[in-house]
Amino acid sequence: MRITEIREVDVPLTGAISNAVVSFEHHRVSLVAVVTDVVRSGRPVVGVAFNSIGRHAQGGIMRERMIPRVLGTSPEDLLDPVSGLLDPARVLTAAMRDEKPGGHGDRAAAASAIELACWDALAKIADEPAYATIGRRFGQEPLAAGVPVYAAGGYYRAGEGVAELGAEIRSYLDAGYEAVKIKIGGASLTEDLRRLDGAVTAAGGGHRVAVDANGRFDRATAVQYGKEMAGHDLRWYEEPVDPLDLRGTADLAAEYPGALATGENLFSVPDVVNLLEFGGLRADRDILQMDAGLSYGLTEYAAMVDAMQAHGFDRRAAMPHGGHLINLHIVVGLALGGCEAYPGVFQPFGGYSDRCEVKGGLIVPSDDPGFGLEQKADLAPHIEALVGRA
Ligand code: MG
Repeated sequence: MRITEIREVDVPLTGAISNAVVSFEHHRVSLVAVVTDVVRSGRPVVGVAFNSIGRHAQGGIMRERMIPRVLGTSPEDLLDPVSGLLDPARVLTAAMRDEKPGGHGDRAAAASAIELACWDALAKIADEPAYATIGRRFGQEPLAAGVPVYAAGGYYRAGEGVAELGAEIRSYLDAGYEAVKIKIGGASLTEDLRRLDGAVTAAGGGHRVAVDANGRFDRATAVQYGKEMAGHDLRWYEEPVDPLDLRGTADLAAEYPGALATGENLFSVPDVVNLLEFGGLRADRDILQMDAGLSYGLTEYAAMVDAMQAHGFDRRAAMPHGGHLINLHIVVGLALGGCEAYPGVFQPFGGYSDRCEVKGGLIVPSDDPGFGLEQKADLAPHIEALVGRA
């Protein structure tokens, strides 16, 4: 088996939404196709994936560095010697040749798109959903009956207030979600608390609402918000401070009684180990949100989950950032704690296909081969345009 070609294209996100730090108006995502010489139904098997949502497309790093390295590697050196099939870890190693350790930034997302596309190809070759391939590789029983899912919304939109936020949250409950997340930190504390009260009322209790500050606060502000929100019994308080401010995280964990969540901006195992050892997180309540699509792919991500367990955390404390089909298959396949979803935003990548059912707060993956990206109606034309010549 060999890779014959790797294609990438960047696709814009629809919608103009913002969190406390970032407007997504000009964000684009890299859609990647790894073309193989394995033939199924008369056509080459093509693995498809993308780097996660909420960062930028990484076509330059892929085209100039990673794709030439992978295609320039002897095909046998990219294979699992036992199966004779592509080994995503070896593909990642090839993509990362001549890169120094540390400094994990955009290249981590570039590598992840290529690595994840290899998993899609492996599942398609086995003619099974990716969660089955992933569960087998990592020794887990996939949670194929469904995993908890929450609707991540509550973004700041120009001209909209508490009434619109309440309506948005009620629409998520109507769609089968039982938990939601809203943004904080993009308005004054007073306004944010009004929004939070509205969200808690609409959702039916603080235990159904998480809040996300996107790393916006300094330590004092994070503590102040924590004090004001402590009585709300929230699901969690996400990225209160800069993701690399481990002392700030630890200081807040010592004061805030509820659950904290962080990790989506940590892109390597050593970064996660630092968080686990110095961030003061509590294994009995806190949530870790690293995202394979931002952090070199599933190979590195699975090692992060191992590190969590080595530090006393249950694997169900892993709830990846990024509500989309790839992470659904990873959560199901690795038997993790749950997924997020972005109903109506971050399209065409966000959310799930019509073949995945949301019911009673769970999302159930379809049994389409691979990640099932081709079954997502608004994403399918982009995939078709990219792989049509394969
Ligand atoms: Mg977040």
